[in-house]
Amino acid sequence: MRETCRRYVDRVLVPFIVADREREWAFDPSMRLAPEVLEEADRAGLRSLGVPDVYGGVALESGREAQTFALIAAELARGDVGIADKLVQNWKISVLLRELASPELQQRWFTRYMADPQFLMAHCLTEPRGASDRWLPYNAPEANMDTRAELVGDHWVIDGRKQFISNGFDASLYVVYANTDDSVGMLQGTSSFLVPRDTPGLEVTRCNETIGGRYMNNGEIAFDNCRVPADHLLAHNDALGKAGIYFRPGKILQAAKNLGIGIAAFDDTVEFVHNRVQGGRVLIQHQAVAVRVAEMATKLEAVAALLRQAARAVDLRRPNADALADMAKVFASHEILEVCVQAMELHGGYGAMLEVGIEKYLRDASVYLHMDATTDISHFRIVKALFPSTAGNYAGTT
Ligand SMILES: Cc1cc2nc3c(=O)[nH]c(=O)nc-3n(C[C@H](O)[C@H](O)[C@H](O)COP(=O)(O)OP(=O)(O)OC[C@H]3O[C@@H](n4cnc5c(N)ncnc54)[C@H](O)[C@@H]3O)c2cc1C
Repeated sequence: MRETCRRYVDRVLVPFIVADREREWAFDPSMRLAPEVLEEADRAGLRSLGVPDVYGGVALESGREAQTFALIAAELARGDVGIADKLVQNWKISVLLRELASPELQQRWFTRYMADPQFLMAHCLTEPRGASDRWLPYNAPEANMDTRAELVGDHWVIDGRKQFISNGFDASLYVVYANTDDSVGMLQGTSSFLVPRDTPGLEVTRCNETIGGRYMNNGEIAFDNCRVPADHLLAHNDALGKAGIYFRPGKILQAAKNLGIGIAAFDDTVEFVHNRVQGGRVLIQHQAVAVRVAEMATKLEAVAALLRQAARAVDLRRPNADALADMAKVFASHEILEVCVQAMELHGGYGAMLEVGIEKYLRDASVYLHMDATTDISHFRIVKALFPSTAGNYAGTT
């Protein structure tokens, strides 16, 4: 699978990115991605990881799912992390559907998903009022989501707004989290729903213009009297707990995508320092350059090692899986940003040029600092996982 992915990245993704480096800046987001990019990913089996094989998906070996996700996500991100994110969101939601959706819902949505390579999915948790409270979590009614859902007859009526959503601009199916019981905290009173894009009352209000990962088409979605059939409920009141099957692999995937950016930045830098001559010799033969290259290589190995260990812990459901998954995510986000800064340094002026592609790695790595919880919130979570009875609450009075 890794070889297949590598071929896809080298033959489809990298040529697509290199052919037109200004394309990601097309301010009509529907013009950014060429349809062939997803069609080829589909043909290579890279869209359907996590989809049960009865629907034509790629069955993953049980006990190795997070590790497989990590390998493939890192490979994809070597080509482009925004496009990797497009596919990764689909894998994560496929796992969620596989685990939580009724057989009828799975039949309906997996069939449609598999039939159309352009079909994307998005996971809508974050709201304008913020996401950190959810990641902590700050489990008090005052911190509940503003998006609400109410059962009226045989439909759920959803009202609210979600922002910063990967694939948000162009998804065909959304998993939406909403408050369904205001008398308790979010862990007891949040439900999740499947909401098809064409549902009346759902409006995609914007595509966010992000510094990096631009092909993910991060978006904002408004729900105004949006009615979904009662059977589109995925989890009632305990949706955040049930999404745990997704949160841990989610951290692994963030770290893996980051690693892919770092590997690409390193590979390009290695090539550059072996060809560029200054001071009468190629750059690699200058000691200061060698030190920087050694630091980059060490950081990549360290991130890869922690990622492997964390992914294995998640797959084996080890007690330290929560802490390790957060450690891998936050460690990768800092170390890879550093790798990209070194790549910028070593490329001199070329590092800043759009057509060379090094500045893109730095931009791409920067957005991964804050996805799936900020650094500080991730650190709180690590301490809570390590010292559950003595760690602080970090929010409000609960
Ligand atoms: C590129 C990108 C893609 C994303 N994709 C998705 C997606 O697909 N789906 C989705 O639901 N969300 C998505 N997000 C949202 C992401 O999860 C949140 O942006 C992130 O968790 C931070 O939340 P926030 O932006 O609301 O910041 P805030 O929660 O407002 O935090 C602002 C600052 O306050 C600090 N802070 C907050 N609370 C505390 C506290 N109690 N103690 C100390 N400091 C605190 C934070 O660390 C941070 O520095 C995405 C974000 C980005 C940037």
